[in-house]
Amino acid sequence: MFAPHPPPDMVQVPIDGPDVTEVVASLGFGHTLQRRPFSADPERLSFSSYKQGNVANFSIIDSTLREGEQFANAFFDTQTKIRIAKALDAFGVEYIELTSPAASEQSRRDCEEICKLGLNAKVLTHIRCHMDDARIAVDTGVDGVNVVIGTSSFLQEFSHGKDIAYITKTAIEVIEFVKSKGLEIRFSSEDSFRSDLVDLLSIYQTVDRIGVNRVGIADTIGCANPRQVYELVRTLRGVISCDIEIHLHNDTGMAIANAYCALEAGATHIDTTVLGIGERNGITPLGGLVGCLYAANPEYVKDKYNLPMLRELEDLVAQAVEVKAPPMNYITGSCAFTHTAGFYPHPPTLSNPAIFEVVNPEDFGMTRRIRSVPAV
Ligand SMILES: [Zn+2]
Repeated sequence: MFAPHPPPDMVQVPIDGPDVTEVVASLGFGHTLQRRPFSADPERLSFSSYKQGNVANFSIIDSTLREGEQFANAFFDTQTKIRIAKALDAFGVEYIELTSPAASEQSRRDCEEICKLGLNAKVLTHIRCHMDDARIAVDTGVDGVNVVIGTSSFLQEFSHGKDIAYITKTAIEVIEFVKSKGLEIRFSSEDSFRSDLVDLLSIYQTVDRIGVNRVGIADTIGCANPRQVYELVRTLRGVISCDIEIHLHNDTGMAIANAYCALEAGATHIDTTVLGIGERNGITPLGGLVGCLYAANPEYVKDKYNLPMLRELEDLVAQAVEVKAPPMNYITGSCAFTHTAGFYPHPPTLSNPAIFEVVNPEDFGMTRRIRSVPAV
C-alpha cells in the first residue's frame, strides 16, 4: 500500500545553503520582477543594469561605410554611399565612419562628398597610424580621424613588424598632428584581446596624457566573451580619463552581448554596421544593439534615435549589398513580432501582448501579427 501524498502545505523540505531572501536583499536592487519591460518604470527593472556604466549614456559610431565595405558583397558607389550616409544621419547615429581616403582616389573623393552633405552626425575616417595617411585625412573635411595599429604579438610580428616603442612614438606624432588641425582623434589598438595587457595599458595611458579624445579596443578576430570585455574595459577605465570606443567582431555571435557589457564597464562609444555587415561575418549590428539597449531603457533610446526608420535603413543596405535580411532578424525581421495562437487555452498575446514581448513593435513602426494554427 502506498501512503497518500501529504497536502502541499504540509511538506517540509530541509534547506541547506544560504537564505535566498538574504541573498536577494544583498544584491541591492530589491526583488521586484520585471513585468512589463517596454512600458515599465525603469525603477522596477530589477535585473536590468541600466544604471551601470554607460548603458544610458553612449554614442554609436556606425561603420557601414568603412567596416561594411569589407563585407564580401559590398561595392558601394558614390551615390549609394551618400544615400546610406543620409539615412544613418536621419536615424540619428552620432558618428559615421568612412573608409580611409588613403585607400584609393575614389575613397578620398567619396569622403569629401560626404563631408559636404552637412550632416548632423560627425564624419570620421579610419586610417592606419601613419603620417602619410593622416595628412590625406585631415584635408578631406572630416570632423575626426580614427587611427588604428596592431598591438598584438601576432600583428607586431606578421603584419607591420614594428615594436611597441615604435608604435607609441608614431601614435604620438599622428595624434599631435591631427589635434593641431582642430579635429577629433581616436587611437585604437587592433586585436586588443590578444595584446599584452601591460603594453596595451601603457600605450593608452601615454596617448590619454597627450589629449587623445578616445582610445579604441578592437576584438578584431571575434574571440572575446562578455566577461573578458567587461574586465578589459573596466581595467582600462581605471587607468585613463578619455572616452573608450569598442569594435567587436561577431565570429562567435557575441558582438551584441559584448557591446552591452562594454557599456556596463564604462565604454562610451560602440561601433556598429547596419545588419552587422563587415569583414567575415561582421560586427555588432546596429538594429540588434539598439534593440538590446531599448530593452534596458526604452525612453532613453526612443528619444535618441528615429526608431521607426530602422527597417528602411536596413532595407537600403540589404539592397546595396544584395542580401535579404533574415526573417528572424532583431526587431525588423518579418517574424520578429509574430505570435502563434493555439498553443494556449487563451492566447495571452491578445489580451496583453507585453507578456511575450520585450520590445513594443509600435516604437519601431512594426506591427504585431497573431498567427493561428489550424486544428489537427
Ligand atoms: Zn573590424
